[in-house]
Amino acid sequence: MNDALIKEFEAIVGKENVMHAEADRQAYSYDAAVLEPVVPDLVVRPTTSEALGKTVRLCNENALPITPRGAGTNLSGGTIPGRKGVVLLTNSLNKIIEINEQDMYAVVQPGVVTAKFAAEVARRGLFYPPDPGSQAVSTLGGNVAENAGGLRGLKYGVTKDYVMGVDFFDVNGELVKAGSRTVKCVTGFNLSALQVAGEGSLGVINEIIFKLVPPPAANKAMMAVFDSIDKASETVAAIIAGKIVPCTLELMDKKTIELVEAFTKAGLPTDAAAILLIEVDGHPAQVADEAEKVVEIARRIGAIDVRAASSDAERNKIWEARRAALPALARARPTTVLEDATVPRSQIPTMIRAINRIAEKYNVTIGTFGHAGDGNLHPTILCDRRDKEEFKRVEDAVDEIFEVALSLKGTLSGEHGIGLAKAKWLEKETSPATIAYAKKIKAAIDPKGILNPGKIIGA
Ligand SMILES: Cc1cc2nc3c(=O)[nH]c(=O)nc-3n(C[C@H](O)[C@H](O)[C@H](O)COP(=O)(O)OP(=O)(O)OC[C@H]3O[C@@H](n4cnc5c(N)ncnc54)[C@H](O)[C@@H]3O)c2cc1C
Repeated sequence: MNDALIKEFEAIVGKENVMHAEADRQAYSYDAAVLEPVVPDLVVRPTTSEALGKTVRLCNENALPITPRGAGTNLSGGTIPGRKGVVLLTNSLNKIIEINEQDMYAVVQPGVVTAKFAAEVARRGLFYPPDPGSQAVSTLGGNVAENAGGLRGLKYGVTKDYVMGVDFFDVNGELVKAGSRTVKCVTGFNLSALQVAGEGSLGVINEIIFKLVPPPAANKAMMAVFDSIDKASETVAAIIAGKIVPCTLELMDKKTIELVEAFTKAGLPTDAAAILLIEVDGHPAQVADEAEKVVEIARRIGAIDVRAASSDAERNKIWEARRAALPALARARPTTVLEDATVPRSQIPTMIRAINRIAEKYNVTIGTFGHAGDGNLHPTILCDRRDKEEFKRVEDAVDEIFEVALSLKGTLSGEHGIGLAKAKWLEKETSPATIAYAKKIKAAIDPKGILNPGKIIGA
């Protein structure tokens, strides 16, 4: 990029917020997906809304591709700068603008870290439920752009269920305002919805209005231990069929249990074939009743042990162990391929059997954990990308996992997004007309194709 243009960016955001050294650009060439890095031409970090809009405008005037980026934790290549250009960091726009306790909403900038926001909301006696495993570092802008889910998705839904409005910059750098602070709003098209799961390809998010809810009065966490993964997955289906909606219903298979226990020493039963980690919440009487029913169902289906946390410390231990699943698996081999193909939850037993069959067929190591209550499993393939023969088997295994998920009327991605990683698969789940329709929207909104090019619908 020429010096004159770099100076124009510096005039907007300040010299200290424009990075063009090779080492800086390398640092923004990849994200948490297992994909080839692409080094951008420039990295720009606006610290005000005004500077964000002006940066977008300058990129557009110069037809420079823009890759918006929060914390870069997405798992689908959403922040790999497909056509180089500018990586636009929104993590310095990190103010909680308002938390309104009376009307139960909050207004935030996109760079606020998810867990910090949830903690501040909790301090005010309210609750922001979406809790992606990456919440300690992920940003709310990234959460909206990926429609992030989390451990509480089964009962409380995902990010989109809390988005009341989004202000975003269009490709010309003009501020588009959508949604409102009211519970009801039907003023115009639902433009906020275009930004949810839009992966930064239809606008750059500047501010978000989130719905907040009252926190549950009580909760109870339990661990059910099984000698067969079939029994664990049947228990998931039976709990839901029993009209109980736990706030969290998570599964770990044997491989995951062993690696998590080695990592955390949380006291997980390493001789078990699978465990379910379950939490019910709500009014204390309802919690007691539902916990009793969950225990009864798990025992009836064949749990060899069901343990309930008797203190907050024990409860935290259970959830810390679950949150350690991915880091624990990632320690085992150099490369971790984490998928999130999702099926209707009644199909969980079939999906898990298929994943195990695929692991055997391609001779790959797969640890499976995930949000079993949502049908959202994370089969995680442990491998070494540098071993080309092994990695080819991994890619074939992933393709077959997607085939099975779609044949069970599931979806390619429950929460990790499409990005670059799954764009080639999109038509299989949808239809040629769906892709053509999406491309028409994209072309109308972004005629030069510079907003996060290549993501979701391909080039
Ligand atoms: C250990 C680990 C655990 C995870 N657990 C979960 C989980 O439980 N649930 C889940 O859903 N995901 C999970 N993820 C994936 C990831 O954390 C989420 O997708 C998260 O929402 C990404 O947030 P981010 O700030 O890192 O966004 P980034 O990765 O920086 O960006 C994600 C997408 O959002 C776009 N974007 C970012 N900011 C803006 C903006 N201001 N305007 C427009 N577009 C923007 C980017 O261009 C990109 O397409 C996990 C990832 C890791 C590494």
